[in-house]
Amino acid sequence: MATTQQQPTAEEPAQSHRVIANYKATRSRKVKAVCCCCDSESAPVKPNAHGEPDLWNMGRGWSEAPFPHDFMHQDGSVGSMYTCPSCNKRLCAGEALTLRWARTELTA
Ligand SMILES: [Zn+2]
Repeated sequence: MATTQQQPTAEEPAQSHRVIANYKATRSRKVKAVCCCCDSESAPVKPNAHGEPDLWNMGRGWSEAPFPHDFMHQDGSVGSMYTCPSCNKRLCAGEALTLRWARTELTA
């Protein structure tokens, strides 16, 4: 018990360095998917074997772009990517949404 992993436990961790993730672990050992377009979060669901949110347990309208669970994207996030119901609606309507990492590059 030398070091404890300091996980951000607050809902909105006040960090200058923003961690980009496709999903977040909750204290109740569940995971929340994070939308790759607007950063909105799904309800906490049981993780699958790789610790990723299981799409089948997620709210209606969420979609998943499957990637290997250890695949690292150019924004530093890892694994499958998720899109929330409202962004899916906009995508279906033909709107071009800016993915998170494109925004990150613009503001960096
Ligand atoms: Zn979204």
